[in-house]
Amino acid sequence: MNEQFLQYLWKFRLLSLDLHTAEGAKLTVLHPGIQNNDGGPDFFNARVRINQTVWAGNVELHMRSSDWIRHRHQYDPAYENVILHVVYENDQAIRQKHQGMMATLEVKNNFPAGIVERYREIMQNHLWIPCYKLLNGIAPGVMRLWAPALAAERLNVKSGFILRLLDEYADWDEVLYILLASGFGFRINSLPFELLARSVPLRIVRRNADNPFRLEAVFYGQSGLLAGNPRDKYLRSLHCEYRHQQAKFGLKPLKPGLWKRLRLHPSNFPDIRISQFVQCLVKCKAEPGFLLQSVDALMLEEFFQLSASAYWDTHYRFGKTAGRNEKKIGPATARLLLINVLAPFLFAYGSARDMSPMRMRAVELLEGLEAESNHESRMWNSLGINAENALESQALIQLKRNYCDYKRCLECRIGLKLLDKHNQP
Ligand code: SF4
Repeated sequence: MNEQFLQYLWKFRLLSLDLHTAEGAKLTVLHPGIQNNDGGPDFFNARVRINQTVWAGNVELHMRSSDWIRHRHQYDPAYENVILHVVYENDQAIRQKHQGMMATLEVKNNFPAGIVERYREIMQNHLWIPCYKLLNGIAPGVMRLWAPALAAERLNVKSGFILRLLDEYADWDEVLYILLASGFGFRINSLPFELLARSVPLRIVRRNADNPFRLEAVFYGQSGLLAGNPRDKYLRSLHCEYRHQQAKFGLKPLKPGLWKRLRLHPSNFPDIRISQFVQCLVKCKAEPGFLLQSVDALMLEEFFQLSASAYWDTHYRFGKTAGRNEKKIGPATARLLLINVLAPFLFAYGSARDMSPMRMRAVELLEGLEAESNHESRMWNSLGINAENALESQALIQLKRNYCDYKRCLECRIGLKLLDKHNQP
């Protein structure tokens, strides 16, 4: 038992129905109040009936009633409107400044013992998710209802990064351009891609948007991947063009060591992704805002099915030939760009401008896309939870990475159901 669990029992009314205060008065909880995560009492605006009198005010929770004194609440005016002290153990009677004895509820023997055992079982588990063995088919229904809120939480988290970029650049196009670049890094190389876009301002891209070769030269040169001896004709021509553009715009390249290839499928090598990113910029004429004009998920998915330039049909790395194979972005990878770039951008834009239709567009975009297929989704499938679209798969990612991994089971609707289920007679 800890204070967090005590708050959980109180918040979700998991205590016995036959309650009495320490003074022996009949207690009925009409409303547990609104949880307060800042300073002051733990719950605001609660309503309880003590004998025949209804009280409205704040509720404070402690493991022991003496904690009230230990925390010096008797001197703090913020605690003057506390109507009930909920404690695990009533080890000391507490007197309030103006109201006499504090009404106290001792919880120790007023909740089903099994609920704590189940909570402990979840917390001590080291499986993929702590409740792995307990789900028993209860989760799919809960998840379906919770998914939109969880996915919105995830969009909100991603919006934080986007709005910080906006603070820095004060230009939505530049922000979308950098975000798009980081999307082409597909997690492993998202930071080097972000740095690459930061090193080539959008105005330089716009000046060269009609010349894919020159743009490739600029981006490859800036990536640091052109360093070393040019081993073939194409590489030599990129070198030559880059030197010219570098002098013209005063560009400083990144260090090549930033890029990662380990454990990546060759089609995901940064060498190839940079070329596809350049094709994307050329296709939208260096106006990233163009991508926001379409509301059709399938059209957008098609837009991103871009091919790297012809050189890469026979290469995976500069100077090393390989069998002919067009390096085209497939539909599943194109969807990742919509999920990780466009949807969060729409959501952040809508949040910054207080435009809920824009936020709704982000949600609808995710709803219209197929769910991602990855290790996480396969693990959820094995537990009987299948995402029907990208909104639901994003919700599951949010659940795993922000709740399960931190054992936030007391804030999780599945956790509530698991503990509540045990609470049923
Ligand atoms: S957070 Fe929810 S889904 Fe995750 S382990 Fe806890 S109860 Fe299960």
